[in-house]
Amino acid sequence: MPESPTGIVLDIQRAALHDGPGVRTVVFLKGCYLRCQWCHNPESWSPEPQVAAQPDAFGQYRTFGRTMSVDEVMQIVLRDRVYYEVSGGGITLSGGEPTLQFAFCKALLLAAREQGISTCLDTSGHDRQEDFAELLPLVDLFLYDYKLRSSELHLRWIGAGNELILSNLDFLYRSGAGIILRCPILPGINDSQEHLEGIAELSRRYPRLRGVEILPYHDIGLYKFGLLGMDPPPLNTSVPTEEEQLRYKNSLAELGVRTTS
Ligand code: SF4
Repeated sequence: MPESPTGIVLDIQRAALHDGPGVRTVVFLKGCYLRCQWCHNPESWSPEPQVAAQPDAFGQYRTFGRTMSVDEVMQIVLRDRVYYEVSGGGITLSGGEPTLQFAFCKALLLAAREQGISTCLDTSGHDRQEDFAELLPLVDLFLYDYKLRSSELHLRWIGAGNELILSNLDFLYRSGAGIILRCPILPGINDSQEHLEGIAELSRRYPRLRGVEILPYHDIGLYKFGLLGMDPPPLNTSVPTEEEQLRYKNSLAELGVRTTS
């Protein structure tokens, strides 16, 4: 019998309600190509397991990431099958960027498919188009990030231009993929009318999008930079107030975009 492929898993969260439809088990894979300056999961950046440089609040040096096989992950995922069935949920692969561990990512999606479990892929979209083409038949829904309309600002804030991401979005959409566009919004960085118009432009261009979600910036992961012995990138932003969040949604509604969160 062939060995079950292995990968580096950062975390597995059961009973998640915000990463795709229904009740889901979210499997976070380690490693990311990008460096979003507002990232609240810096422990996901390296594809290798890491030991914290500083102790946590309990005086423990945490380890981020461990090697797991597809079978080990699926044993956990299958515990909640009944919840998936009643809620329309399933498995979501997230990161980091889950496609960075391509073989493991694909093997997990395939294993879920074989078990009849619905699959979501939470992706930055920054990877080779050939890889997305190969994953496409195994993914029921892509949770696809859209962060900045301007490629120049994308490069400045995220570490790469947005051309590849937009081209992959176009490819996936035209190939019939189910896609929810997920848009992190940070006051002073991408809450401009220009960026909101960029979201509206995409939702007009891709009318079969399953939804457009606004993800307001939060800073609850900042402490993890300290654990890793890193300084958080300097960010001139803030957690958006309820009023600001309402303003984003209203502005988008005026531009013809009905947000789904
Ligand atoms: S793509 Fe996600 S995990 Fe990667 S740096 Fe950006 S926010 Fe962090």
